[in-house]
Amino acid sequence: MHSILIVDDDLNLCSALKEELIELGFDTEYVNSADKAIEILEQRSFDLILLDLKMPEKDGFYVLKTMKEKDINTKVIVLTAYADVQSAIDSAKLGANDFISKPYDLDELIITVRKVLQLEDNEN
Ligand SMILES: [Mg+2]
Repeated sequence: MHSILIVDDDLNLCSALKEELIELGFDTEYVNSADKAIEILEQRSFDLILLDLKMPEKDGFYVLKTMKEKDINTKVIVLTAYADVQSAIDSAKLGANDFISKPYDLDELIITVRKVLQLEDNEN
């Protein structure tokens, strides 16, 4: 079973997305701040992070930079506002594997998750 960490300051999004990913068979957790993300990543490993860029105080770029510094190599899909191309480019430079625009479309999100995790059709 693959594990996914959702990092987003929107707790409604976190819990809805967690339910959906659990239903699809992913071991899923969420945190609502950059500091909590780094804290949990130092305690356990995940296969994939879904990372919101816009969070109050420390943002998604901070998480990407801190992961680099700490040599945490978990794959990352960035969640960014629609048409925010520059943010997508900047996050790719910091090591993000892919990005999804918000508000997200669940089918598109799942396709991207499976692509980044390199899953076959019958696995999760
Ligand atoms: Mg946000």
